[in-house]
Amino acid sequence: MQPFDVAIVGGGPAGSSCAAFCAAAGLRTLVLDREKFPREKVCGDCLNPSCWPVLERLGLAEKLRDLPHSKLGSVAFIAIDGREVSFDLPTGTDCEISVKRSLFDELLLKRARELGANVQEQATVTGLSRDGDWKIETASGDFFQARILIGADGRNSTVAHLCNLLPRPARERVALQAHIALPRDFGNRIVLQFLPEGYSGQAPVNENQLNLCLVGTPPTISKLRRWAQHEFELPTDQTWRTITPLTRSPVPSAHENLFFIGDAAYVVEPFTGEGIYYALRSGELAANAVAKLLRGEHGKSVLNEFRRAYAQVYCGRLWINRLARAAVLRPQLGSFFIHIARINPSILKLLTAKIVVPG
Ligand SMILES: Cc1cc2nc3c(=O)[nH]c(=O)nc-3n(C[C@H](O)[C@H](O)[C@H](O)COP(=O)(O)OP(=O)(O)OC[C@H]3O[C@@H](n4cnc5c(N)ncnc54)[C@H](O)[C@@H]3O)c2cc1C
Repeated sequence: MQPFDVAIVGGGPAGSSCAAFCAAAGLRTLVLDREKFPREKVCGDCLNPSCWPVLERLGLAEKLRDLPHSKLGSVAFIAIDGREVSFDLPTGTDCEISVKRSLFDELLLKRARELGANVQEQATVTGLSRDGDWKIETASGDFFQARILIGADGRNSTVAHLCNLLPRPARERVALQAHIALPRDFGNRIVLQFLPEGYSGQAPVNENQLNLCLVGTPPTISKLRRWAQHEFELPTDQTWRTITPLTRSPVPSAHENLFFIGDAAYVVEPFTGEGIYYALRSGELAANAVAKLLRGEHGKSVLNEFRRAYAQVYCGRLWINRLARAAVLRPQLGSFFIHIARINPSILKLLTAKIVVPG
């Protein structure tokens, strides 16, 4: 069998975006994902406005607006004692929206397929070897060959693990997520709520459902679940999706004929809701680099250019994410910021504006 030009492991936002751009550039593109789409995913479902330009380049902005979604008009921060401060978000067509990942991810993967990518669902990658080309093995015993391999398989990347590049997991936090009935009068806002045991993120995803996320540590997560059950009057048998770790050390993004993108490369604190943007954009950058390598451009220069462009994506944003992480790791400290912001809102307002800056 003729090898694919590029094989992408993972069909989330990073993998699908990369596959769509690779296929559009005329590359023989393979996507392998262990799931059958549409599938839900532990996520706050919020799309940062910076996503819009990438979605335009993918030809998806209008199609996304046609999906059930909510336009988010404000963000409310709630301290442990219940005191609250709220800021308006940018308005207009390219505003912050929330959309269920089952819908969003399927739209992206479908686009990759339309542009010519060969998408294999329920194909769990279990083995890798390299002898010139990459040889990729799946759990069902299928083999695929590709010249370039992309790890887009999320925070617990199998590709990074099989290449001995996955950092050891730290003693970590855990997240729970569910779509629940939208409480009456919730409004079109994001709520970021500090709790003694962690935090909760809430956002309406359509006219009748709320995305509810809880983030805590393994010993405290059951307390958070009880809080949510009481707060939102959930049934005792409410089902939750779960994910861990919440953050980890990065995996270097560029190697010879091997790239890591999205969460597989860099997991950011979810509090600021930017992971999908990083996934989409890193997918686009990797596709550019792959096309150049396959055209025979000088390998080292292409990799260096990719690394610079990749660093640029995070540049000027990451310090806010680190600040958010410091606040959420000590919810009392986060609550203290909210009290200060109630007296003088300008700093928190500025930080919020920096995160939801339209692309
Ligand atoms: C609690 C929480 C809330 C969040 N809220 C937001 C938010 O509101 N907004 C935002 O922008 N970001 C948010 N994020 C971050 C966001 O979810 C991620 O950054 C984003 O999903 C990364 O996309 P990705 O394509 O890199 O990885 P993923 O979305 O994780 O996709 C990876 C894909 O790889 C597949 N895969 C994994 N292993 C294999 C394998 N061995 N073989 C084949 N396929 C495999 C998986 O099935 C999956 O489809 C949140 C994260 C958490 C944990």
